[in-house]
Amino acid sequence: MARKIGSRYTANQILGRGSAGTVWLGDGPEGPVAVKLLREDLASDQELVGRFVQERTALLGLEHPHIVSVRDLVVDGNDLALVMDLVRGTDLRTRLERERRLAPEAAVAIVADVADALAAAHAAGVVHRDVKPENVLLDMQGPLGPGGAHPALLTDFGVAKLIDTPRRSRATKIIGTPDYLAPEIVEGLPPRAAVDIYALATVLYELLAGFTPFGGGHPGAVLRRHVTETVVPLPGIPDELWQLIVQCLAKAPASRLRASELGSRLRELLPMLAGMPPLDVDEPDVEPAEEAEEEPSAGGPAPGGQPQAAVRRRGAVPLVPGARPTDANRDTHTSMRVPAPDELAGGARGTARAPRAAGSPRPGSARNRAVARRRRIALGVTAAALVAALGAGTWLATSGDDADATPRDTENSAPVTP
Ligand code: ADP
Repeated sequence: MARKIGSRYTANQILGRGSAGTVWLGDGPEGPVAVKLLREDLASDQELVGRFVQERTALLGLEHPHIVSVRDLVVDGNDLALVMDLVRGTDLRTRLERERRLAPEAAVAIVADVADALAAAHAAGVVHRDVKPENVLLDMQGPLGPGGAHPALLTDFGVAKLIDTPRRSRATKIIGTPDYLAPEIVEGLPPRAAVDIYALATVLYELLAGFTPFGGGHPGAVLRRHVTETVVPLPGIPDELWQLIVQCLAKAPASRLRASELGSRLRELLPMLAGMPPLDVDEPDVEPAEEAEEEPSAGGPAPGGQPQAAVRRRGAVPLVPGARPTDANRDTHTSMRVPAPDELAGGARGTARAPRAAGSPRPGSARNRAVARRRRIALGVTAAALVAALGAGTWLATSGDDADATPRDTENSAPVTP
């Protein structure tokens, strides 16, 4: 069913749904367009409408072959819409879900396109703030590039900023997508261009590995990993490519490459990566028990009735409070409290979940856990024997003097549980 959007556009058919609204295939005076109709609750937020109008010039001014241009902003009654270039294709998340991992050449070609888009935006003083596979569209009608990759276009410029009203984000809140959030945002610093580089390096890692370097489990745990953990090399990744990823995932924003340099360095690697198959990497498990142990606050049943900790997440929490639960698998934003330094430091493990070459045992796998459990039991038996001997000795030494001494002393000397 068609609907009018302002006086110039008609929305004909739904192309996709996101956290902020629904994207329609539409028509305008200059031909087909994509129309993003913001959710009603956002459209009725007067503060947001004001910002929408205020940001108009910045949003409309971004023109680049790898940016989905916003052609118009429409405020009409209850409708708040962004009219964009229509990209005939799919988003990168859909491709990644289909293929699980991309060949390095295709991954690097796509990310180089996005780096070029960011270079143009950063030069214009615009920070994207929500770089992730959902916001990269692949133009299937464009020419095939290296590794058979279609041109990639970055979309949703300025949308995170629009939705991130001061009221929602003031000092205590983080707005963004947990898996892709730079550590300085977690620490409460204002987002600068380097946050986009960190997010893009995370996307590159994800395209190569099939999972993000710090994702998995409760969003709080994900945020903590960004600040405290370091990435572990992906098995089989060419060193030059790995060094670029590491540099762009640096905790210190100033140590990361600029977008233009990242784009050109990635393109330099393309000939070397030609014909290389996808990396043979197995995804680290997120064990329910481990996650529950790591994040006790993750408890409580998820909508599907599973304990939340057992649900494999891709930062899947809505940015916009009240986003429909049906969108949960696609909506990858979060809005949460900035953790205190001691909370961030708590439980830091030093390195991110270690990726394994395919076939090697998973760190949290049944096989590995069985070995670990056997070791713990053996340790426990030895410790229990020691404790029993010590306890008996203590009891013998103290009995008759202080009847309470035995259990207290024994407790203090028996920390091992199998
Ligand atoms: P949100 O940012 O609100 O989560 P998205 O921008 O991801 O929403 O849009 C949801 C879906 O709509 C995308 O996955 C994509 O399939 C489609 N889409 C978005 N923008 C365009 C566009 N310019 N051209 C074609 N399809 C689009």
